[in-house]
Amino acid sequence: MTNRLDAIPDILLMGPGPSAVHPDVYRALARPTLGHLDPAFIALMDDTKGLLQQVMRTRNHVTFPVSGTGSAGMEAAFANLVEPGDRVLVLVNGFFGQRMTDVAARLGAVVETVAFDWGTPVVPDVVKPKLAGPPYKVVAMVHAETSTGVANPVADVGALVKPAGALFVVDGVTSLGGMPVEVDGWGIDAFYSCSQKGLSCPPGLAPFSLSDRAVARLLARKTKVASWYLDASLLVNYWEGAKRAYHHTAPINMIYGLYQALLNVMTEGLDAVFARHRDVHRQLVAGLEKMGLELLVRPECRLPMLNAIKVPAGVDEARVRGRLLTEHKIEIGAGLGPLAGKVWRVGIMGHAARAENVERFLAALKAVL
Ligand SMILES: *Cc1c(COP(=O)(O)O)cnc(C)c1O
Repeated sequence: MTNRLDAIPDILLMGPGPSAVHPDVYRALARPTLGHLDPAFIALMDDTKGLLQQVMRTRNHVTFPVSGTGSAGMEAAFANLVEPGDRVLVLVNGFFGQRMTDVAARLGAVVETVAFDWGTPVVPDVVKPKLAGPPYKVVAMVHAETSTGVANPVADVGALVKPAGALFVVDGVTSLGGMPVEVDGWGIDAFYSCSQKGLSCPPGLAPFSLSDRAVARLLARKTKVASWYLDASLLVNYWEGAKRAYHHTAPINMIYGLYQALLNVMTEGLDAVFARHRDVHRQLVAGLEKMGLELLVRPECRLPMLNAIKVPAGVDEARVRGRLLTEHKIEIGAGLGPLAGKVWRVGIMGHAARAENVERFLAALKAVL
């Protein structure tokens, strides 16, 4: 029987995620699997938590990777903080803000939204009057809206949310490891991300953190957290303390991979990592402009890690993506929702954010167009 693994092509991942995995991370994944209560594994868990705190810029003691992808992090944030009937405000300017409304509504929240056009950022002055009305339990937003390439002003919204008494939930799935994230500095109460975008690990884990304020609200719930698997008040007994209690078997080797990925980020240094992303973004934009291509988002709120390029009139966008993949071994993403068929989404995330990759992509796109 043929082994399909022998036929896996070597693709340069420059879409909205997953991103190119760092070779050190592949080596980490191949280390021997330990028991989930082995002292050597528990020491590695402790260091993983410490590294997560550094990369997220938080002192939150409830900080660990949720077993699951970024969406599991999203579910965990809402499941722990929301009880049926709670009022939740979601700021929506793209696909992932919309997903938050669905997740919160399934938990029985009374969801309201403030909507902004896709491709434009959340505007704090538009949100402000909403927060002057009846109080919300949770206000939620996406930091880096991967569906459009917009960076949202999390710090400015955070400054409005805290005085309003609400808990502030932020999706950092695409921002973590690519641009500054300040969980404590921005007043974030629940933060989640993923392993496979800015951190250059395979998909499977969702870095997650709760503030002390959020933990106090979690412990004061009237109802049990609807998800047993994602209940942070149970998970914390495995992730900290002298006596580690089994909850579910940790994805041991994925945690090795995440640990190595975080170590890589902290060894390079957060500022150097962010500067590398900014530099290759500028290089990409300059190259695209030279080819006469335009970006969807105006320059002051563009994400370095996710670039939405307008598909020129008369071009078959799916055919271009197909040829990039088959002829040039480069994957880029299509538009989502109202942007389907209108943009390409080019990711320069984590390990892939290098000048030679941008050059290779620009040359390939030019050849295909
Ligand atoms: C990718 C992404 C998600 C979902 O993460 P998965 O790992 O695909 O589950 C959520 N929010 C944002 C902003 C994303 O980019």
